[in-house]
Amino acid sequence: MQGEIVVLGSGESGVGAAILAKQKGWKVFVSDKGKIKDSYKEELEKYGIPYEEGQHDEYRILQAREIIKSPGIPERVSLVQSLLKKNIPVISEIEFAARYSQSTLIGITGSNGKTTTTKLLFHLLKTAGINVGMAGNVGYSFARYVAESKVDVMVLELSSFQLDGIVDFRPHYSILLNITPDHLDRYEYQMANYIRSKFRVALNQTEVDYFFYYAEDKHIRDYLASHQLTVNQVGISTSMVEDSVLTLGGETFDLQHTQLRGVHNALNALFAISVAQKLGVSATSIREGLAEFKPVEHRLEPVAEIEGVEYINDSKATNVDSVYYALQAMKKPVIWIVGGQDKGNDYEPLFDLVREKVKALICLGVDNRKLQETFGPFGLRIEEVQSADAAVRLGQQLAKKGDVVLLSPACASFDLFKNYEDRGNQFREAVLNLKKEK
Ligand code: ADP
Repeated sequence: MQGEIVVLGSGESGVGAAILAKQKGWKVFVSDKGKIKDSYKEELEKYGIPYEEGQHDEYRILQAREIIKSPGIPERVSLVQSLLKKNIPVISEIEFAARYSQSTLIGITGSNGKTTTTKLLFHLLKTAGINVGMAGNVGYSFARYVAESKVDVMVLELSSFQLDGIVDFRPHYSILLNITPDHLDRYEYQMANYIRSKFRVALNQTEVDYFFYYAEDKHIRDYLASHQLTVNQVGISTSMVEDSVLTLGGETFDLQHTQLRGVHNALNALFAISVAQKLGVSATSIREGLAEFKPVEHRLEPVAEIEGVEYINDSKATNVDSVYYALQAMKKPVIWIVGGQDKGNDYEPLFDLVREKVKALICLGVDNRKLQETFGPFGLRIEEVQSADAAVRLGQQLAKKGDVVLLSPACASFDLFKNYEDRGNQFREAVLNLKKEK
């Protein structure tokens, strides 16, 4: 007997992988220790794929020919350890899907900016009339895409967890946006492990492929200085940006008439444009795409201007580095809504920007002691609230015409909200309600 492919975890990537495996003629079994969403169960049933939930049938799983593991399951769990001991290959859905993909692959990773860059590049290629798809950490899984549609170019957002499970996956173009501390709990609290994981995006690339990286990132520079990569390397840096104008391949692109704000978005745009140019997209088409691009929700998303005060939703800023870029992008005095579940934050990189730009802090979290202790000595006004609505109302009271009320929390949202989207949606709703009242 050839054995079956077992899919561990039944989120979008697990279900996509199961559908693709079934389509390719494999025997498949899906196992999830938690509950499987009803919509996914229906799909598995439709495709005749057996599954279990609330448990792992270890005996069955340990007979597998190969395991496709959800990126959410850490390698240290005992079931995965048993599989590895038995030499059963454990791969990610990305690795599996790539085996069956005929598309030109673009893999995008980094600690911050993945979704924005993925969506922007997808948009630029689509504007140019290319038959392009977008998958990975954003939207549908890559495997589902491969099973259900054919595209010439595939833009993939890749997390480090997804990259941990690759063996032969080889994107034709890869992007490494930046590396700043994140998810260290999954990497034995070793930054070196996390860096290695991010570089896996270029692991199998050869001299016919391209690797675009942020040349000013210390972790990236150090790694490149001590490792030999055969792939073509293209460094991207802020020296290619002057005010709002980007210069690339002898062409200029002015972001002034786009909705992309801040140095970080200029960098994201440089990466997206570089790949678009390599794929032969004309400067005219790129300019058109940039002008039309709508910023992704919850990432420096302008919500409204009320009585001369601007309200910005940056709920996705769940770490210190992304807040750094948010504050850097602000041109006006800031009422800063910050806080939530702390991930061991070190706020020091923000000190200068806070001194320069922030007028007041509104702490939106259950436990705000660390923020109070850190920023108390700055002599700023610091208030505490427990809801997005209260934060917005207080923001309105504290702000003067010409100020900006910025939600950029540096923390996870799970103490008061379901997730960062919920936090951002509640903020947006509170702002729009305020606008109606005025
Ligand atoms: P990711 O998908 O990697 O989490 P997002 O595009 O969703 O990245 O952005 C997450 C947060 O990081 C947002 O607050 C955004 O403003 C900020 N950000 C976006 N691009 C960058 C970048 N290149 N460097 C640092 N921060 C960034």
